[in-house]
Amino acid sequence: MAKNILHCSFCGRSRDEVKILIAGQEGHICENCVEHAREIIEQELMVRDEKTPSAFKLTIKKPVEIKKFLEEYVIGQDEAKKVLAVAVYNHYKRLQQKTSESVSSNEVEIEKSNIVMVGETGTGKTLLAKSIARMLNVPFAIVDATVFTEAGYVGEDVESILTRLLQVCNYDVNSAERGIVYIDEIDKIARKGDNPSITRDVSGEGVQQGMLKLLEGTDVLVPPQGGRKHPEQKLIKINTQNILFICGGAFDGIDKIIARRVQTNTIGFNVDKDQQDSMKKNLLRYVNAQDLKSFGLIPELLGRLPVVTHLDPLDASTLRAILTQPKNALLKQYKRLFELEGIQLNIEDEVLDFMVEKAMEYKLGARGLRSICEGILTDAMFELPSSKETHFTLDLDYAKRKFDKSKLSLLKVA
Ligand code: ADP
Repeated sequence: MAKNILHCSFCGRSRDEVKILIAGQEGHICENCVEHAREIIEQELMVRDEKTPSAFKLTIKKPVEIKKFLEEYVIGQDEAKKVLAVAVYNHYKRLQQKTSESVSSNEVEIEKSNIVMVGETGTGKTLLAKSIARMLNVPFAIVDATVFTEAGYVGEDVESILTRLLQVCNYDVNSAERGIVYIDEIDKIARKGDNPSITRDVSGEGVQQGMLKLLEGTDVLVPPQGGRKHPEQKLIKINTQNILFICGGAFDGIDKIIARRVQTNTIGFNVDKDQQDSMKKNLLRYVNAQDLKSFGLIPELLGRLPVVTHLDPLDASTLRAILTQPKNALLKQYKRLFELEGIQLNIEDEVLDFMVEKAMEYKLGARGLRSICEGILTDAMFELPSSKETHFTLDLDYAKRKFDKSKLSLLKVA
């Protein structure tokens, strides 16, 4: 090497073979070597982390406490809360059993109970999952089933469900193997049509088959960056035996399937008209695995999702409570926003009724409440910070005027 030409002291490349050469006291380093050094450090730290006990320490809350915690964020949905609380509690207990040294070979092994939540869109499925995540000290990831397709097709491989979990815990495999995954929109991978053999059902049955592997509790090879697996990629092995899966979906139209089943079951019994009407009002209450199968989930997958629960549709009083009661209820948020400007926001009771009425009328559910509030309050939020006002009272007249002017009023569904 010529003495007067600068070289990277690590790889020996000369100045014109690299983009950047950083000078040190006695030598130089190029950008390639910096990058390699970074990778080595990351891997080294990861190995050390694996040897030290997991960062996620278990502190167990009893099911009643878990449910109480959920009450702070989610209104109603009692059954789903109870089912989730029990499942999460048992998940913790299983993890303890696995970690305790005293497990003898003849001890009963608790199997996990993955869950399916069925409920109309906007009734709080994701909110429940997110609220659980706030409380947990095991890694928790939320993924959407619609992005997955069968291996070999455009879309993500099913295994990338676990990539999210790995990312949540900084690629600490030990922690990920004790985590919980919420899979949203599971109904979108239902088999389309009753006859599976007519055409290839890329995003339906194939994905369900792929998912089976994950739910079964085996070793799965996961692409560290998600997406598609490719041959040169280093895959990370994860054992899914202790990972709890919670699935959620709206299952549009499942009420008809339930109705058919419930009706045939009740024919011949003495079920009076009132009883029949009340059954019809919330058929989801009766949902079971058989209905999910008729909807298009394959029996093998359902076998791995033994707990089926439902969320109730939101009625007016629930919507009203959603506006004001949860810990970070919408109206509390607006009040806080105004408070930060030094303005006290008072909202008259009639306005709440009006907002709920519009959400029901426009079939917007809880998700629509925010748009309705925005429609009504945007002008005030625009003008008041520049004014000298210290109080603002939102009355029915103002609310109606602003709502009628907002884009939402054009959305009315027939
Ligand atoms: P989905 O059932 O479609 O997953 P989400 O959980 O995303 O519905 O709900 C949408 C929004 O509606 C939430 O962010 C939340 O603000 C509100 N919401 C829905 N249901 C409830 C509920 N039961 N309690 C409190 N807020 C709710």
